[in-house]
This record gives sequence, C-alpha cells and structure tokens, in this order.
Amino acid sequence: MKERISKLFQERFGNTGSFYASPGRINLIGEHTDYNGGFVFPGAIDKCIMAEININGTDRVRVYSADMDSYVEFGLEEKDAPQEQWARYIFGVCREIIKRGGVVKGFDTVFAGEVPLGAGLSSSAALESCFAFALNDLFNENKIEKFELALIGQSTEHNYCGVNCGIMDQFASVFGKESCLMRLDCRSLEYAYYPFHAADHGYKLVLLNSKVKHELVDSPYNKRRESCERVAKQLGVETLRDADMAMLDAARDSISDEDYKRARYVIGEKQRVLDVCEALEKNDFATVGERMYQTHEGLSKDYEVSCEELDFLNDVARECGVTGSRIMGGGFGGCTINLVRDDKYDAFIATAKQKFNDKYGHEPEVIPVVISEGAHKL
Ligand code: ADP
Ligand code: MG
Repeated sequence: MKERISKLFQERFGNTGSFYASPGRINLIGEHTDYNGGFVFPGAIDKCIMAEININGTDRVRVYSADMDSYVEFGLEEKDAPQEQWARYIFGVCREIIKRGGVVKGFDTVFAGEVPLGAGLSSSAALESCFAFALNDLFNENKIEKFELALIGQSTEHNYCGVNCGIMDQFASVFGKESCLMRLDCRSLEYAYYPFHAADHGYKLVLLNSKVKHELVDSPYNKRRESCERVAKQLGVETLRDADMAMLDAARDSISDEDYKRARYVIGEKQRVLDVCEALEKNDFATVGERMYQTHEGLSKDYEVSCEELDFLNDVARECGVTGSRIMGGGFGGCTINLVRDDKYDAFIATAKQKFNDKYGHEPEVIPVVISEGAHKL
C-alpha cells in the first residue's frame, strides 16, 4: 500500500511527504453496553488507512483518494465543506482541530486503506484518526492529547458526517497496542490494556461478514435504548451499569417481560466483559470463548438484535468446535467475530463458506485480524 501511495503522490504532486497510518478495530466483547455506561473491549487491527502528507505552503488542502480514484480540493473555513462524503471526514478533522484552538494549514495528501468499508471494522474512525494523528504531528508539535484526537474524530462524525457515534471506534484506532485489547469504561472513560497473546497460544481471530443488513421499520436501536432507560429509572439508577441481577429480579413485577429481557442481557454483558479480562490475564482462552457464545445467546434471545444469517454462522462455529463466536456490532447483519484454534481454522472457514453459500446463495467474506498498534507515523 505504501508503494502505491508513494507512486501516486509523486505523480500528482511531484514530491514526497511523511507517512501516517491508523487502523480499524474489533470489539471482542461488550456489545450495546456503551449507552448503558458499561464496558467495551476493543482492539486495533492489522488493517489501516494510510496517508502520505506534505505541507504545501497554501491555505488549501488537496486530497487524492486512491481507493475512490477521486480528487478533491478544499479551503479550511467552515464554508469550504466539500460535497464528497469521503472528503468530509478529512475536512471535519481539520475543522475540529481548528475549533479547539489547534493549527491546520494547507497540505497535499494521497491516502488509501485496507479496512473493509461498512463491515463493522470502522474504516471511518481509521480515516479520521489517521488525519487527526498526522495533523497533530505536522502542525501542532503533538501537543494535542491522544484522547482529544479520538474526540476530534468523534465530533467529525457528529458534525460533518451525520453519524451519532460513541467514542469506542476512534479511541481504539488511536490508542491501540500490539497484542493488547483495551477495556474502556464508557461512564468514566478510564481505560486499561489487557494482554491478548492469541497467536502464542494457538488461536486466531477471524470475522465472517454475512454481507446482509436488515433494515427494520421502527428503529430497533432506539427501542433498545428506551427499554434500558425505562428499567434504569424503575430501579432508581442512572444507567444499567449501576444495576445487578438481584436488583432487577426484585423489581421483576413492575417491569414488562420485554424490558426485563433487555436489562438481563445488559447486566450480564457487564459481568462477561469483566470475566474476559480476568481470563485473559491467565491466558484462559476457553473462558473467553465461552463468554463470547453467551454474549451471542444474549444478543439473539434476550436483546433480539440478531438475525437468521448471524445465528446460522454462530451455529456453524459451534459445530466446527470454534472456541468463541458472536455477533460483532449493533446486530441485524454484519459480521460474527470468531476465536478459533489454529488446528480448527481451515475446516471452519471451508465449512462456513460452503454451508452459508448453500443456504443464502453467497459466501461470507472472511476477514482474519491480528491485534496491532494504533495510529502512528511510519
Ligand atoms: P465503517 O463501519 O467502515 O466505519 P462507515 O459508513 O462509517 O463504515 O464509513 C465508511 C466511509 O468512510 C466510506 O463511505 C468513505 O466515505 C470513508 N472511507 C473509509 N475507508 C475509505 C478509503 N479507503 N478511501 C476513501 N474513503 C474511505
Ligand atoms: Mg464508521
């Protein structure tokens, strides 16, 4: 990718610049917990957005997207927002740095990526984090704190891309470390690194992208949030983070069956993240995998955000002796994330491809991932 970018940069701008990269991310466990003040457990992956950037001495930004084969120029005032969606991510990052009192001046850039778009690996956060990190280095002597870089990416999504996302994706892209997952507390924003030496212990992580997305009539996401908020109110706590199963069961009669199931999932998921952290400190991958299956079960039966195709992939994983498997992301489609022993890997991939194809008429996309470092200069 670096050579491809370098060649395109030379052809277009006739000189060279500095290289920066920032990765996509997975979330091993901790789903639908962010808006409940709970924990998420992401890690950066070995698939990045990479950019070559050179300060051009003007007040214009000149950007070539190698993957889109598209060139855009824009100024740095609010009124200069480009039309192209992909360019708005970069414009947004520039504007959010400037709004916070940072410096951004004109630059030339060519960028490309290997994070699959819209597969749930957060290519958009990788793009924002790559430019936030680079512009901090090029114009701000790296004075902007790392957490602020993540917030700059998040505000870009909110203010320039119409996506009302949380902080996990940008956080993971900026803070990622090789062979480490990160437990982020979505209430306090405290975080801690946990070792994830999967390869050393004979395990691989692989995503299977079902490539289906079920659009539902009334926004299920908002309905899940409302259920959680209702139960929290009923229990007299701010978010379900502060509730436990004993409290939920004590209030059982005043909560609808549906809300009860939703809350049961969220409260269980909080504990499952903590269990996984503890298990990883002992390299106990069997427990990690067990919790992943339990999360899938909870998302499917209690939270009801799975779909036929994802349940099918989860069943195939079980049949193939995969250590852990679950839906990754909001649900209703997208990927499963699978923790697989090396000796089961090839058979699992072959079986999943064939069985899924037989049933749904297309193969799932296979995306192996390795936990790798976050935003960096090359
Ligand atoms: P994801 O779940 O992957 O973040 P999004 O829809 O949030 O999906 O973001 C995808 C968008 O990010 C793309 O439509 C594009 O605008 C931008 N993007 C991501 N990767 C690239 C890339 N390699 N080149 C250009 N734009 C990209
Ligand atoms: Mg995104």
